[in-house]
Amino acid sequence: MYYDTILHAAGCPYCGETIELVIDPSESGSTYIEDCSVCCRPISITVFAEDDAITVYLQAEDET
Ligand SMILES: [Zn+2]
Repeated sequence: MYYDTILHAAGCPYCGETIELVIDPSESGSTYIEDCSVCCRPISITVFAEDDAITVYLQAEDET
């Protein structure tokens, strides 16, 4: 188990470009907003960390 930040590559839910996210495993279970570095739209990011397995969910924030 480690609590360093990690770089995680994921596809933007808006533009589909692969972007690199800085993930903090100690934030497991929390959701935060980060702007896409390509299209600048806000992405809702949820991080789950279990042991050394990190799961990251990306969701479009403007879904209504
Ligand atoms: Zn994007």
